[in-house]
Amino acid sequence: MVFEMITTAQERAPGVFEIPSVIGGTIRIAQWLIVGTGGALLVDTGIASTPQETILPALTQLEFDIADVTHVLLSHCDVDHCGGASSILERAPEARVLAPGAERAQIESWPVLRDQRYRWVEQYGLEVAAETETWLEQEFGDPITVAQDVADGDLISLGSVSAQIVALPGHSPGLVGVWLEDQRALIAMDAVFGRGPDPAEPTRVNPPQYGSAELYGATIERVTSLDPLLLGSSHFEPLSGDAIAPFLAESSAFVASLDELLAGALTSEPATLSALTEIANSALGPFRPDFNELARSVHAHLERFVAAGTATHVSDGQTTTWRAA
Ligand SMILES: [Zn+2]
Repeated sequence: MVFEMITTAQERAPGVFEIPSVIGGTIRIAQWLIVGTGGALLVDTGIASTPQETILPALTQLEFDIADVTHVLLSHCDVDHCGGASSILERAPEARVLAPGAERAQIESWPVLRDQRYRWVEQYGLEVAAETETWLEQEFGDPITVAQDVADGDLISLGSVSAQIVALPGHSPGLVGVWLEDQRALIAMDAVFGRGPDPAEPTRVNPPQYGSAELYGATIERVTSLDPLLLGSSHFEPLSGDAIAPFLAESSAFVASLDELLAGALTSEPATLSALTEIANSALGPFRPDFNELARSVHAHLERFVAAGTATHVSDGQTTTWRAA
């Protein structure tokens, strides 16, 4: 099933608009626009082509002038979140680009992003497929400069609306979302992933992806404690009310399942990241393999075992593997 390009913004709470788009026919990715009397905040920009294909038509339909965007928040460094930034800035040159300081270097530079965010797998014997890397580079767009680092608790004044930055790390080290206290709306983007895909739903092909199991677990708790009425994300339909708690429970359950699975899979024989990811994919997937997303979560658990002393690294000088300690 291939989705038609969506260009319709949805008002999910008063002044809070979701702009859903589709990448490559199957991957759902949403941007969010928060409009106050004194400004408008666009959260994430999609890939390089998303502004032209989706965001601009959606804003036109809302009769909202893109030049009135005063702030662009890039939630984290992944290409599907910041690749459209230069295209937005061409049309909203006064907008201030805000981003987590921990990910500024990656957001501003494709080579830094490529090496630190995507090629990390090479030390474990995996690689980024050439066509995947070509696509990522193309969709990174033209480089932009972040005007201001943001951190947990920062307030962005939009006149009638005050948008609070919330640190939601785990998926990436610096990931931030937006908390709208009056609406009890949390625009969390890639902070929480549920159980990842439902194979029957082609827009949910990405697995829960986190680089730190501890930070991801703490973020699930943070979201739970905020007790939002609306949970906005990038790759999932927005959730509201009673639908939120089960999603958060699924998110925690996935972490527990992967932890247990990998703890049981490690033996005294060294195992590669590829082999352990395959085990996880068979048990909890299938997920799309081409972005090494599940490998990131598998790696997070393996490193937790190493820190806890239940696993140890084995290296042949080129490739790092793991075995039970
Ligand atoms: Zn991401």
